[in-house]
Amino acid sequence: MQLSGCLQALGLQVGRLKTGTCPRLAGASIDFSQLEPHYGDSNPPKFSTKTQDFHPTQLPCYLTYTNPTTHAIIEANLDKAPMFSGQIESVGPRYCPSIEDKIHRFKDKERHQLFLEPQTRSASEYYVNGLSTSLPFEIQEQVIHSIKGLEHAHITRYGYAIEYDFVQPTALHHTLETKKIPNLYLAGQINGTTGYEEAAAQGLMAGINATLALGVRTPSFTEKTFILTRNQAYIGVMIDDLVCKGTQEPYRMFTSRAEYRLLLREDNARFRLGAYAHALGLMDDCDYAKLQTQQDQIAAAMHVLQHMSITPNKLTLEKLQALNQAPINDKCDGVFLAGRDGFEEQDLRAFFTCLQDLDTEVLEQVKIACKYHSYIEKQSASIAKMESLWDTKIPQDFAFERIAGLGLEAIEKLSKHRPKTLLEASYISGITPANLEVLQIYLHLHAKTGGVLL
Ligand SMILES: Cc1cc2nc3c(=O)[nH]c(=O)nc-3n(C[C@H](O)[C@H](O)[C@H](O)COP(=O)(O)OP(=O)(O)OC[C@H]3O[C@@H](n4cnc5c(N)ncnc54)[C@H](O)[C@@H]3O)c2cc1C
Repeated sequence: MQLSGCLQALGLQVGRLKTGTCPRLAGASIDFSQLEPHYGDSNPPKFSTKTQDFHPTQLPCYLTYTNPTTHAIIEANLDKAPMFSGQIESVGPRYCPSIEDKIHRFKDKERHQLFLEPQTRSASEYYVNGLSTSLPFEIQEQVIHSIKGLEHAHITRYGYAIEYDFVQPTALHHTLETKKIPNLYLAGQINGTTGYEEAAAQGLMAGINATLALGVRTPSFTEKTFILTRNQAYIGVMIDDLVCKGTQEPYRMFTSRAEYRLLLREDNARFRLGAYAHALGLMDDCDYAKLQTQQDQIAAAMHVLQHMSITPNKLTLEKLQALNQAPINDKCDGVFLAGRDGFEEQDLRAFFTCLQDLDTEVLEQVKIACKYHSYIEKQSASIAKMESLWDTKIPQDFAFERIAGLGLEAIEKLSKHRPKTLLEASYISGITPANLEVLQIYLHLHAKTGGVLL
């Protein structure tokens, strides 16, 4: 029996998804003179703060478009695409549909943009982003040659689509251990996700949890499991979505899935998660000491700025003018002024003595904290309020069916998933805020009356 069959036989629900990729083209065969170049960031962010001297040579991408001829070729051959011929019936990624899908679903669009992305430093091969296809090779040739700049392009590798099995991830604990088969952890595409980062993030979490389950501990991490919450990390959002809601289509981790996007930023990842990394033995003492120093410096700078009173007196106005900054009319604190648009690194150092000696990384954090101060405060307060409420425990034998005011769907889902807390209940798809309100009232009554009411 094949692996998926075994998993199914063990009681896991197995489904099928699909994904595809675009053709690759020989760089030398593309007529770039007809195309619009798009340049990358002049100062690209580094993946790790340990990376020094990061000055990769940047190559541009090029923009081109499909056109009515391209669309006519695809439309005339839709029946040859396995997805449309019925050969493939599984669900594909909603946010990166194939070109066949785009032409079929968005008939009113006259063109679709395509980014030609260099695959290598030598730019010998280009990826045609936006042209994922499973059409036969000869049709792909026609499609490519109908596009501006690609009239004579040579396809080095054709596009294709694949189908794959996945296990409905509601079968998993938040540790990614399967509920039915203790000590079996699933991570990556098998859980219905698509994407390199999604797979890597789950691999990390499943690996850590499997190791902890074996009893391996570090001196500073004594918990039996390692679970990140929705307000701590995108990993927390993704795993929570997967295990609480499951998925019917390839799951991608979009920032829009997170309730607290303002707190979950790429620039503050190490400040949010560094303590865990250190405790789990993934960050050395030296790096952690540096991180802590930076955190202390940010907190100290914010404290000073919050308590600073700046009046629009002659000295202040002269200082602002010298920096080419707009004047202030009213008294304000340092957070307000430092957060203003146009106050760049050198201006911050020149205006605020307390920021003069901070390194660039720390100053960037202070600037962001000032700029979004009121929003960050609001989100933090909302998390604190929610945490106090969502922690409400739901007894495992709670009789949801006896709650007047809960619809049949809500009763079925709550009884099936048996959430342990109100927070977990809120993540079950189909459970509405109104359901949660009713549930919370009953839980309160249940606790107050020692369960008599239910
Ligand atoms: C055509 C295509 C294009 C894609 N393009 C992108 C993209 O541009 N960007 C992006 O982010 N993602 C893309 N993806 C998705 C991404 O590649 C996957 O989501 C990701 O690689 C999944 O990683 P994984 O480790 O979960 O699974 P895999 O990478 O599939 O790893 C599973 C491994 O398990 C091995 N294995 C299977 N069965 C057994 C067995 N019985 N015993 C031992 N080993 C076994 C397999 O050989 C394989 O090495 C693409 C996927 C496809 C198919």
